[in-house]
Amino acid sequence: MDKKSDFEMIIIGCGIAGASLAYFLAERGITDILILEREEQPGYHSTGRSAAVLVEFDLVPSTLQLKLLGGQFLRNPPTDFSETPLLQRSGILIMLQGALWKQARQMIPSLRQSGAIVEILNQEETVSMIPVLSPANFDGAVLLPEDGHIDVNELLWSYLRHAKRRGTQLRCEEEVREIKTDQGRCRGVITSRGEYGSRWVINAAGAWAGKIRGLAGPSPVQLTPHRRTIITFAAPEGMSVSKWPLVTDLSHDLYFAPESAGLMASPMDEDPVEPCDARPDELVVAQTIERLKELTPRLVPESISHKWAGLRTFAPDQAMVVGEDPVLKGFFWLSGQGGAGIETSAAVGQIAAELILDGRTKLIDAQVISPARFAV
Ligand SMILES: Cc1cc2nc3c(=O)[nH]c(=O)nc-3n(C[C@H](O)[C@H](O)[C@H](O)COP(=O)(O)OP(=O)(O)OC[C@H]3O[C@@H](n4cnc5c(N)ncnc54)[C@H](O)[C@@H]3O)c2cc1C
Repeated sequence: MDKKSDFEMIIIGCGIAGASLAYFLAERGITDILILEREEQPGYHSTGRSAAVLVEFDLVPSTLQLKLLGGQFLRNPPTDFSETPLLQRSGILIMLQGALWKQARQMIPSLRQSGAIVEILNQEETVSMIPVLSPANFDGAVLLPEDGHIDVNELLWSYLRHAKRRGTQLRCEEEVREIKTDQGRCRGVITSRGEYGSRWVINAAGAWAGKIRGLAGPSPVQLTPHRRTIITFAAPEGMSVSKWPLVTDLSHDLYFAPESAGLMASPMDEDPVEPCDARPDELVVAQTIERLKELTPRLVPESISHKWAGLRTFAPDQAMVVGEDPVLKGFFWLSGQGGAGIETSAAVGQIAAELILDGRTKLIDAQVISPARFAV
């Protein structure tokens, strides 16, 4: 048995955040990494429950910037990174009404300047693309034809495969229970199975990131997990939906998209909850059907095939939380990815690796995502 108990880096959590950081650290030659994951397998929580799309549109400027950077990697990953393509350019259609439509149109020039391919559709063009929509519910739509479905499993396991090949160790079913500190510095962790020392401890614990920091004293960052629900169901008889983009109605909180042989939908619920193994709430499932009835009655299913819920974890200002803790040196936050942790993972993983190894990055203004912004 491997008795090694000191590592250069310990990453807590093996979702997409922890896996992407291990990959980018390994690319920079750091191979003495231990990833600790409490569950039986990587990606069990938020990473395994997402809608799996790249949407290069966001009202939070730093998140939009990270999506654009992450999108470049998904379209053109390094040679031999993955065994199959990471992105299926199935498209994203965003319907908007009133003030939101106005705001979205104002964003288009800068979106295009950043390199995003964006088309504006009027009501007629939108309905001819997705005939179940009613013009009464939206003023116009934004189409992102180069965005679409991400193969999350392939992305997660490609990060891990390369990191492991270079020496990263992954230990599942091992829970971090204590953070070791000494004179204001983080020195390692104590787990359900042992004790490890390390120069850096990285908090990639998703919905539990706030709790993890709490093990070492009051947290300077307040993170809140929000539950989001998805249902899947058969498409109406005779209706061909497999080539539809993901359709999201930002003014009425509903999205739907092709999924396996049928469709999936979400009422874009955002109920704040304690970190947990999220389960769908029956009222929210019923609300999804109600919203389909109001907005796209032809899609209302006779029965639901599957349903699940996952957690999207946000800081109060909705921007991500990436950087060294302002109080506890050697403790690094890689959290607060909200609803964009998959599509931004390549950008955020690279930025985190640069901040850890170089203390700076040219990819983004690191102050905007630093946990230090919350320090009193
Ligand atoms: C319904 C839904 C739809 C979404 N759609 C999209 C989308 O289309 N595109 C997109 O980019 N993002 C989407 N997201 C968001 C995305 O899923 C998350 O931002 C991302 O998965 C967060 O990754 P993570 O690695 O931080 O968290 P997680 O995947 O939750 O990983 C954290 C890990 O830490 C582990 N952990 C926690 N505490 C401990 C401990 N004490 N010891 C050891 N391990 C621990 C957990 O077991 C977990 O595996 C969606 C989320 C949901 C819920």
